[in-house]
Amino acid sequence: GELGAEQEGLVIAHFGQQLDIEALEGEDAGQVFRCFVRANIDSLVTGDKVIWRPGKSETGVIVARCDRGNLLQRPDNFGALKPVAANIDHIILVIAPEPEPHDNLIDRYLVASETADIPAVILLNKTDLIDDHNRDHIDTLMARYQRLGYEVVRTSAANSQTSPAPEVEALVRDKTSVFVGQSGVGKSSIIQTLLPDEHLRVGAVSQSTGKGVHTTTTAKLFHLPMGGALIDSPGIREFGLWHMTPQELEYGFREIRPLIGLCKFRNCRHMGDPGCALDAAAESGEISPERLKSFHRILHDMAEQNARGLKLS
Ligand code: GDP
Ligand code: ZN
Repeated sequence: GELGAEQEGLVIAHFGQQLDIEALEGEDAGQVFRCFVRANIDSLVTGDKVIWRPGKSETGVIVARCDRGNLLQRPDNFGALKPVAANIDHIILVIAPEPEPHDNLIDRYLVASETADIPAVILLNKTDLIDDHNRDHIDTLMARYQRLGYEVVRTSAANSQTSPAPEVEALVRDKTSVFVGQSGVGKSSIIQTLLPDEHLRVGAVSQSTGKGVHTTTTAKLFHLPMGGALIDSPGIREFGLWHMTPQELEYGFREIRPLIGLCKFRNCRHMGDPGCALDAAAESGEISPERLKSFHRILHDMAEQNARGLKLS
């Protein structure tokens, strides 16, 4: 059929062979078109910018993918990397006093964002639950990550059912964000303050069928009322719990990265091996002993998983 002129668009959702493209130019800007993809284009994901041509009645054809700023990928069951979402400005790692934050888990999320080359911000939610019992632990933990250069923002979603807290609004405004973090920390609650419209929420469940009302479990892009966008999916929320290699781990601990190669032995496993530069750095206070402990723990867990022939996730 007749196709209109080539123009820029944004992938906002994925449905099998088809994608929803939001027009970025002209009188159709902001409108959504269900598009097919020309066979010569490799995989497209939510957040990708594309060149497309409108067809009849809100359809179209995607003819090219624009260059990506970055790409969130996850390994499939065979270890091959699969793209999940593109062009993300930052990953918002949500933690809370409840469930109790484990540095080990925080570190896994941070490693995943470092290896994807996407900045991570730590959002400490449920500050209303901070008391004399957990304050020291939380403050120590947050100070450790701030020293490493990670931004920490504190909030509470408890009293903001309808409008977002100002600090959260400032964090997401005019950026493309993804929220990650362990179950129960308050991701859905925070996202709901940003996207109050029930229909817009990922994971919304149909009352009658008990099934998700969306036909896709892949990532979706939502525009935010304050400017910026949110890319969300159940899979993205599991980000960081995916399998990682020792090389990714060495790279993903940003203070350990420059130490690799300084160990006495070239094949150092950094697991307490003689002459390990990591141990020396922890001893001299150059790096945090807690972070090194966490690094060791993740390395050890991965070695065990590999020995069992299993992969986490
Ligand atoms: P998710 O699993 O990360 O999406 O977490 P949810 O948004 O489902 O929140 C888990 C629980 O924590 C729910 O019972 C929320 O009502 C509660 N919650 C979320 N934010 C806060 C907060 O700031 N303070 C308190 N006290 N509870 C919160
Ligand atoms: Zn070493």
